Amino acid sequence: MRIKVLGCYGGQLLGFHLTSFLVNDSILLDAGSPTEGLDLEDQFGIRHIFLSHTHLDHIKDIAFLADNRSLKRLGGARENRQIIVHSLKENLEVLRKHFLNNHVWPDFTKIPSIDDPILAFEEIKPEEPVEADGVTITAIPVNHPVPCTGFLLEKDGQQFIYTADTGHTDRIWEVANAQPNLKGIIMDCSFPNNYERLADISGHLTPNGMAKELAKFNKLGDVPVYLYHMKPETLNVLTAEVEALYLPHLRMLTQVDELLF
Ligand SMILES: [Zn+2]
Ligand SMILES: [Zn+2]
Repeated sequence: MRIKVLGCYGGQLLGFHLTSFLVNDSILLDAGSPTEGLDLEDQFGIRHIFLSHTHLDHIKDIAFLADNRSLKRLGGARENRQIIVHSLKENLEVLRKHFLNNHVWPDFTKIPSIDDPILAFEEIKPEEPVEADGVTITAIPVNHPVPCTGFLLEKDGQQFIYTADTGHTDRIWEVANAQPNLKGIIMDCSFPNNYERLADISGHLTPNGMAKELAKFNKLGDVPVYLYHMKPETLNVLTAEVEALYLPHLRMLTQVDELLF
């Protein structure tokens, strides 16, 4: 598997992109920034979006990805490459009702035609594996103010976990501990320690909270842990607080990272 970081921040500032990871060139985990991080040809390679939840920083670029694709098609693209958005039923309903509703943005599940639209929605159920371009992906519910799942990815006997946005949670660590050949985890670390209360009510983690979560992970030190969703304006403080924990095999992601295994 190859996981390219397109955006790994929990806020948008000049040079800092919102959450989005590209798996094997065709699968997106969340859609915060693919149109900022990829040129048009590479955007055209995307066939699947696995959406953890419907907060704007994770769905924003579904709108612009669909728009770019419709233009490319009108401009003579040989095939209409559809993008399948996979998420919980509740989340797909929110997209239909509040986002691609012809008020906020056109409904690209009916454009250019109902029979052959740019976007298709596919419901996923917690802990039921789905196959996408040779990768088996399983949604694992986590703890966030709206319905949200992390994802377990598996290919060629290797596994990878993305926790998505989450506060304190248990199930994803049980799943992580059960994997025979886990190659890495991307996990939430959003706010500095003195924002603990804000982290708790918004369903995120601070460095101290993240350390408590990692106490549930029995492969700490063997399996690399990558942090994402840092609030960019607090990056200096966050970096110092994470370093002070001296946790092995753990670091913050950056936008130039590409994980290969
Ligand atoms: Zn969120
Ligand atoms: Zn977020």
